[in-house]
Amino acid sequence: MIELPADIACLIYLGIAVTVLLGIWLYSHLASRKKKQVEFPLQYHSCEFCNFTYLENPAEKLSRCPQCNLLNDKMT
Ligand SMILES: [Zn+2]
Repeated sequence: MIELPADIACLIYLGIAVTVLLGIWLYSHLASRKKKQVEFPLQYHSCEFCNFTYLENPAEKLSRCPQCNLLNDKMT
């Protein structure tokens, strides 16, 4: 049997715990990045009231400006 001093055993235990936590964080981070992929092409739109430029779904006829919260009509 391998004999370890208590401080070395504690250090190994903490190293394994930190490695497992980093692995869980890395897995969840990569999984959340995949969820953020856009499913439809977005287009730039400029608000006709405040000239704030934002991304919108081109399939929608009206879009809400995130800056002034007013509805904008399609300019195309
Ligand atoms: Zn606006």
